[in-house]
Amino acid sequence: MTKLYLLLGGNLGDKKSVFAEARMILEKVVGKITAQSALYETEPWGFDSEDLFWNQVLEITTVLSPDEVLQQTQNAETGLGRIRKAYQYASRIIDIDILFYGELIINQANLIVPHPRIQERKFTLIPLCEIAPDLIHPVFQKNIRQLLDECTDPLKVVKVPDLPEAHS
Ligand code: ADP
Ligand code: MG
Repeated sequence: MTKLYLLLGGNLGDKKSVFAEARMILEKVVGKITAQSALYETEPWGFDSEDLFWNQVLEITTVLSPDEVLQQTQNAETGLGRIRKAYQYASRIIDIDILFYGELIINQANLIVPHPRIQERKFTLIPLCEIAPDLIHPVFQKNIRQLLDECTDPLKVVKVPDLPEAHS
């Protein structure tokens, strides 16, 4: 059993349902979700406030190998796109990145773990820090809180406000 961290990202469609569906699929095919961050949205630079990016980090306990996880997350990306095709959404409406697979360091052509851009992106570090502040990055040997402190990404990342359900 390995502790795995995944980043969900998306800016198209009914994001709340897409993310919920992604979590359901991942729990079925990858493993039990043992922690999940809030949903965060990244504010755009300009004036256009449509299609904000949403991100969420999941901690999952898995028995799959890293390659199997990649295969399953890619299947899930495709599957979710296919489900929404009737509504003319993009063919991939969710991006699922593998952030950490235990303490393993992988440098394959098709899979780099830890994900090479964790330390550059507040939309990854902020949700990750919410659920795993003391997790040590096996390459930098720093914890997530430290990486966030040192990150100079200027994009503002805020929690998605808890909107009342429907009818509003
Ligand atoms: P991005 O995530 O950069 O927006 P994609 O989701 O299209 O781009 O991924 C491109 C490729 O990145 C995938 O085909 C996959 O093989 C590769 N990849 C390498 N490392 C990882 C990782 N840690 N998590 C997910 N994909 C990865
Ligand atoms: Mg990706």
